[in-house]
Amino acid sequence: MSEKLKRALTALKRECLRVSPDKPGFNAKLAVDTRFGGPAYAEAGEKAPICPGCNKPLSFVFQFCSPQPGKKAAGPLHCVFYCFNCMPIGRPAEEKGQWLVKTWETPAAEKFVDGIGVDKKFKPCSCSLAKVANLPDYESLEANYPEVAALCEEIDGEDPVSIYEEIGQEIGCEMEPFTSIGGYPIWIQGEGTQVCPVCGKPGEFVAQIDSESGAGLMWGDAGCLYIFRCPEHKDGFAIEMQCF
Ligand SMILES: [Zn+2]
Ligand SMILES: [Zn+2]
Repeated sequence: MSEKLKRALTALKRECLRVSPDKPGFNAKLAVDTRFGGPAYAEAGEKAPICPGCNKPLSFVFQFCSPQPGKKAAGPLHCVFYCFNCMPIGRPAEEKGQWLVKTWETPAAEKFVDGIGVDKKFKPCSCSLAKVANLPDYESLEANYPEVAALCEEIDGEDPVSIYEEIGQEIGCEMEPFTSIGGYPIWIQGEGTQVCPVCGKPGEFVAQIDSESGAGLMWGDAGCLYIFRCPEHKDGFAIEMQCF
């Protein structure tokens, strides 16, 4: 029976990038890299985004490239800003502008202008990236792939989650959440519904930014920020912030 489950999970497995805070500090050579804190990548003429809720500048949190299949060069760079005074959680009714994902299509270190989004509470740090794989969290598995969850229950009706984690690890999947780009979101409070602010269609999962003590970053109580993007609208980003 576990062979059947193994095959089912192998079919669900998705590649993602694990992002780990690495060396502390910032210098201009890191301008276009995937990194936490310090100044956001910006070019001449760019203004610091201001939160409409409290009139304070948004904090730059994290920037990353979305990997593009078949393309060697880094994809567009996404810079994530957030207001830690107003703490938006991503409901459509929230006032817009309390968070921002700013995309640069052709970023370059020589075009970098320093100073946007710096929040002294954070410790800037560069990141190391590793190609890994993950699976949905168990609750999402039950919701979206009930036939696979049923296999886990057949093996151990009392503790299907442990079976899921065990077999997941056996086929080389990471079963704990971390800051990641691509793959499946690992929800803390169950699946969110993120829709494109332009057309209202469901967004595709892009990345999740975990609380990272190395970067001095904490979402509520050890929470996580989830980022989605509309497949049709390039600026159609949606977020969800969840914590314990
Ligand atoms: Zn604010
Ligand atoms: Zn859209």
